[in-house]
Amino acid sequence: MRERIYVDNAASTPVSEKALAAMLPYFREYFGNPSAIYSYGQEAKKALEDSRRVVGKAIGALNNEIYFTSGGTESDNWALHSVGALKNKNGKHIISTAIEHNAVLRTLEKMVDRGYEITLLKPDGNGQITAEQLEGAIRNDTVLISIMMANNVIGTVLPIKALCAAAHKHNIIFHTDAVQAVTHIPINVRSLSVDLLSLSAHKFHGPKGVGALFSKIPLMPTPYITGGGQEKGLRSGTENVAGIVGMAAAIEEGTEHLTSHTQYIRVLRDKLIENTLKIPGAYLTGDPINRLPGHASFVFEGIKYSVYVINMLNEAGICASSGSACSASSTEAPHVLSALGYDKEIARSALRISLSHYNTEKEIDRINEKLPRLIRELRHRIEKINP
Ligand code: PLP
Repeated sequence: MRERIYVDNAASTPVSEKALAAMLPYFREYFGNPSAIYSYGQEAKKALEDSRRVVGKAIGALNNEIYFTSGGTESDNWALHSVGALKNKNGKHIISTAIEHNAVLRTLEKMVDRGYEITLLKPDGNGQITAEQLEGAIRNDTVLISIMMANNVIGTVLPIKALCAAAHKHNIIFHTDAVQAVTHIPINVRSLSVDLLSLSAHKFHGPKGVGALFSKIPLMPTPYITGGGQEKGLRSGTENVAGIVGMAAAIEEGTEHLTSHTQYIRVLRDKLIENTLKIPGAYLTGDPINRLPGHASFVFEGIKYSVYVINMLNEAGICASSGSACSASSTEAPHVLSALGYDKEIARSALRISLSHYNTEKEIDRINEKLPRLIRELRHRIEKINP
């Protein structure tokens, strides 16, 4: 069978050998419920608390600032709802951006139903938001600012330290969705000074369905999920011990090798970008400089829908996407590209190729050889249908 090439690492990543090996004993040997007081329970509890320390250390946080969740979506939901509920008395204005993941945007929409007012900042053509722009949107009743660290569709890395400083100048709580950033760019919550940060294990070679919320401020005292009282009584439900252990192993490995992995994939990414931009009518989306090391995203003139390209790439054994895993089969333009000012027609042609350190130069060469041919062929077919 022909080898497949996986280049959709912004959607999900394969679990690393180390993370898998760390997880396996927790399915059978140490399967106990961490709330139980006998030895099986205590072994599981110890694994949880060791993992909390490891996850915290990887982002410069204390273990008691880490809350385990079911992934990035839940961490984002919890952060927004919690600050909203806590700060309700001070005002109901929240600032975010038009390029956030739907885990943030849809949650904010729900909060509008409960009387919150939302300002979504519009980024520049590269997907950047400045501190001055943010300060211009702050009001007396602003209680929360939520801005992502790196964008999933266009790979732009935002200036979180400066944005957070602007928020704190006005005593406003700052949350960042760092789901795409963790282990891909160095993160230290202390030097960034963020109050809350969301992360998700399956984006850094950990398992799916597990993530964490960092919070250095008290979360709302009423439980986010009611039940048996896990996670300091705030998020009930028996913990996903194996998943959490896998997440800890993956984040530890990812941060330990961050420099070498990112140096390696940046070279592959740049080779891919350089070659793809030789295709007539191909454009890079997102920030050409401040972007994730493994992220390459494009639009193409005369392609109509990116699903055509993605299907043709798939037939050639190459797994890439349009920009967001949640809307992979959609013919809609990604909301991120619309927010950047791309017109619908070209935004619908978005292609995202996101790499990991498991990708090889040979694979990039194969993509570089296939993609221009596929685009040419597709344009030819479209022209034949719509002369
Ligand atoms: N935030 C961003 C920026 C993402 O890219 C994703 C997933 O694609 C999420 C949040 C949601 O994370 P999860 O899949 O763990 O729920």
